[in-house]
Amino acid sequence: MTQKNDPASNLAKVRADIAQAAEDAGRDPSDIHLVAVSKVHEADTIVPVLEAGQRVFGENRVQEAEAKWPALRETYPDITLHLIGPLQSNKVKNAVATFDVIETVDRMKIAKALANEFERVGRSLPCYVQVNTGEEPQKAGIAPEDVEAFVKECRDGLRLDIQGLMCIPPIDEEPALHFALLSDMADRLGLGVKSMGMSADYEKAISLGATHVRVGTAIFGDRPKRD
Ligand SMILES: *Cc1c(COP(=O)(O)O)cnc(C)c1O
Repeated sequence: MTQKNDPASNLAKVRADIAQAAEDAGRDPSDIHLVAVSKVHEADTIVPVLEAGQRVFGENRVQEAEAKWPALRETYPDITLHLIGPLQSNKVKNAVATFDVIETVDRMKIAKALANEFERVGRSLPCYVQVNTGEEPQKAGIAPEDVEAFVKECRDGLRLDIQGLMCIPPIDEEPALHFALLSDMADRLGLGVKSMGMSADYEKAISLGATHVRVGTAIFGDRPKRD
């Protein structure tokens, strides 16, 4: 039984499930990276997961991450923080100062703003391109048919360090098709990172090639409502 109120033991279970899914897929478990999604949760919920050895976390809001993580980094300096939510132009500066990986490069305006900021601070972060695999009008991301040109422009034109692709499949669809699509695209473009799979489907994502799974609820339990 999952103990929803015990993040450290939930973490152990998720790690074991990841290792098993990797083994089932004939993959090396060390090729799969767990991004623990701590959005909405307070530091006292996150600390037990840090104490259990987890160092890679995902947050979807720049302001929330800025408020929460600098203090945690003082105690755990080797944290890697991924931005997994939409980035607005006016938050790019703060995002680059707060995060270590930007998973959500989803339009040229943001790609350019990131490139400018990296140049300004003299430091570049690894970036992933968010792909709107379901072509949902309300969802962020590059349409599948535009990904190749977008990645090329980001790499060659803007000199961004594009390491991979990420997707969030439509909630009402079988995710496997979206995972397979993302995986194929990454392979064709020679991109090593495939960020796909959340609490409900990370094992499936691993079977289809995920290198990074973003897992929140299965570790931290249900998210409290934001005020
Ligand atoms: C919240 C979130 C997750 C984690 O979702 P869970 O279902 O809680 O595991 C993963 N990816 C993104 C982009 C998210 O916003």
